[in-house]
Amino acid sequence: MPTERNKIPERLVSDRIKDFDEVALPFDQETAIAEAKRCIQCKKPKCVAGCPVEIDIPAFIKLIAEGKQDEALAKIKEKNALPAVCGRVCPQEDQCEKLCIIGIKNKPVAIGALERFASEHESAKGQGASSKKNVKVAVVGSGPAGITCAADLAHMGYKVTMFESLSDSGGVLIYGIPEFRLPKSIVRTEIEYVKSLGVELLNDVLIGKTLTIEDLFKDGYKAIFVGSGAGLPNFMGIPGENLLGVYSANEFLCRINMMKAYKFPKYMTPIKIGKKVAVFGAGNVAMDAARCALRLGAEQVKIIYRRSRKEMPARIEEIERAEEEGIEFHLLTTPTELFGDENGWIKEAECLKMKLGEPDKSGRQRPVPIQGSEYKVQIDTAVVAIGNKPNPLVPTSDSRLTTNNWGGLVIDKESQMTSIPGVFAGGDIVRGAATVISAMGDGKVAAREIDEYLNTK
Ligand code: FAD
Ligand code: SF4
Repeated sequence: MPTERNKIPERLVSDRIKDFDEVALPFDQETAIAEAKRCIQCKKPKCVAGCPVEIDIPAFIKLIAEGKQDEALAKIKEKNALPAVCGRVCPQEDQCEKLCIIGIKNKPVAIGALERFASEHESAKGQGASSKKNVKVAVVGSGPAGITCAADLAHMGYKVTMFESLSDSGGVLIYGIPEFRLPKSIVRTEIEYVKSLGVELLNDVLIGKTLTIEDLFKDGYKAIFVGSGAGLPNFMGIPGENLLGVYSANEFLCRINMMKAYKFPKYMTPIKIGKKVAVFGAGNVAMDAARCALRLGAEQVKIIYRRSRKEMPARIEEIERAEEEGIEFHLLTTPTELFGDENGWIKEAECLKMKLGEPDKSGRQRPVPIQGSEYKVQIDTAVVAIGNKPNPLVPTSDSRLTTNNWGGLVIDKESQMTSIPGVFAGGDIVRGAATVISAMGDGKVAAREIDEYLNTK
């Protein structure tokens, strides 16, 4: 009989809300081995089917059970270029762990925490892939989709150049997800690993402006992968949204994470937040914004969300951590108007209570306003975190690219090729805001398809 699942260690709430250091801690070796021994090494492991990058999960868990941490990491790296990232932020509860057989009668094996354990002593050294093929491939964007595609192509022997518009690399892993969930040193190690495979990384190059897709082909690139993400914030479209003190989650998190506003004045970018903060939305982005506001000194932080707890899109463990830290949840509530003071700074929000009605297209129950239930909430900072759309720059830079009605690149589902021959795409630029692992899965499939395309061309 499998034993009880081992709890992932965490820092004390009273300590962690004072700084940006990591909240979740790794298993020690003894606990990792005990957890690994809960895996019964299924002959037909269902967990693998739940992993978009097809990690041989039982094999790496067996190596941990045998005390072979480095070998376990090497096994994961056969399929996954970013194990330390995935071990921290992947929604395993909806993927591999959801399908784990142990989960039928007990809690599933803690696959994510074991992946993190395996990557604890990761170094930035790759397997020294060499560009045997002398064929150039361009990758646009250095988020999880681009990194995975670039790493796999480098392993296949292609000469890969990754173009990144920002001065720092890693996409949302660097500018979006806060340090206390994903330390930036981890992302940098993963980037160095990809570079050690021979991938050239060029920052501050905006594809679509600095260089067009056609320029890349003229420069000798034989195929291009676009992984430029979904960084265009949605807004609520309510009066007062342009008041001072109202941030998009993108700007708020980018200032804090990439530009290190939490270390101002050591770092030059400031961020102004007040004592009463409201975050609109309830996904991972909203949880991150709320927990950042708390760490920056806000006295009251509210999550305001129009549906119920069940429909909240954030990872359960992040919702629980936010609750433990004292974030208030105002559910079945939507803001209808924001009001400012005489200086144009936000001072209150009018909110309306909602109830759940019939299911909508997403299958979730539609929130329906309760007329006459309006009430006011005092706030001095608001963060709008209600989702993102694909970055429009690449899709609009070449009229041959087909886009869908929300601006995502349209691709052939099997080959991942866009409407331009030789141009492939994946991750959030195709799916809209999704997950790290789905972006990585797309990068992996695209690398395979690019190889096939170049071999048959
Ligand atoms: P991105 O990570 O967005 O990377 C795209 C890169 O392309 C960026 O670096 C961008 O600067 C660059 N770029 C854009 N345009 C150009 C151009 N024209 N030329 C050159 N470069 C360009 N997912 C999870 O699985 N778990 C989580 O816990 C989680 N938390 C999240 C928290 C936040 C705050 C956010 C914003 C997202 C979170 N996500 C989470 C979602 C996840 O991070 C994304 O789905 C994932 O990063 C998408 O990867 P990508 O490579 O497609 O795009
Ligand atoms: Fe192990 Fe669970 Fe995968 Fe079976 S399904 S191999 S028990 S992790």
